[in-house]
Amino acid sequence: MNVRAGVDLGGTKIQAVIVDDQNAILGEARRPTPREGGPPAVADEIVVAVREASEAAGVEPGSLTAIGVGSPGAVDGSAGTVAQARNLPDWEDVFALGPSLTTALGPRVFLGNDVNVAVDAEFLLGAGKPYSSMIGVWWGTGVGGGIILDDKEWLGRGAAGEIGHTVVKLNGARCPCGRRGCLEAYAGRAAMEARARRLVVRGKKTDLFKIMKHEGRTRLSSGVWERALDRGDKVAVALIDRAVAALGAGAASAVNLLDVEAIVIGGGLGTRLGQPYADRIAEAMMPHLFVPKRPPAVLAAQLGDFGGAIGAALLTEPAPAAVPTRVARASG
Ligand SMILES: [Zn+2]
Repeated sequence: MNVRAGVDLGGTKIQAVIVDDQNAILGEARRPTPREGGPPAVADEIVVAVREASEAAGVEPGSLTAIGVGSPGAVDGSAGTVAQARNLPDWEDVFALGPSLTTALGPRVFLGNDVNVAVDAEFLLGAGKPYSSMIGVWWGTGVGGGIILDDKEWLGRGAAGEIGHTVVKLNGARCPCGRRGCLEAYAGRAAMEARARRLVVRGKKTDLFKIMKHEGRTRLSSGVWERALDRGDKVAVALIDRAVAALGAGAASAVNLLDVEAIVIGGGLGTRLGQPYADRIAEAMMPHLFVPKRPPAVLAAQLGDFGGAIGAALLTEPAPAAVPTRVARASG
């Protein structure tokens, strides 16, 4: 049987799955991403995650057909290297992640961009399955994206899909990328947290940071936002409303340009908030759609927390020539 591993390498966690030839999950494991020790420490933790997931699946890591890894940063699939993985600790220089994992575990390793593999998984196995064109909007720490046209991933010259850095307001809010008015400046979790902190300094009352501390977090995670919304926290509601409005404008502009059949909302916040918020984004798109009579489907991602890892496992399917080489991504 064609049993493979997929690994989603994130800023906070490493998720590994073992899948069969139907992409059904046979075993999984999750490890925290190490904060120290740089790329070698992260590679060691991936090895542990793959071993644990293999054990859960009842297979030997050495017997896996291949291992796929979805990584942030500048991923060179053919060289097996990752550089400038900003969400990961001390990962600026080129690191040969693929070869180091092969040395430790045995099987061949395929690397891809984390957002692209997650969008691919939704297209092939999740919410995008009925369609031949879609845009994935990955709403998390940043706002990433991926484009599928005529059943194929559209990579442009290597940097396509950066919907988070489409401009929703001229001379608008400062984006973590350094520019102004990007969608991510309004909707990215990092940008929203920075704004929430500024509002607190200005005297606004919010439970966001109380909930964060109560949950033992140091950042406003998707779960913290969700709980604050459930309580009707005014600052949280206002910031999320602002994010939804910006996502609506950005997604509608992309649809005006590409006329895709579906928008799939994924990422940490998108997955957590689910279809009710996908519906709100659909509504926020309406005033901006050039052909409002025929809006695209707007759907929450269906594969949940495992989407990234399953998408990484898809990298290991035949035709390795299709493994893309990516330039640096500004968000993930
Ligand atoms: Zn930007």
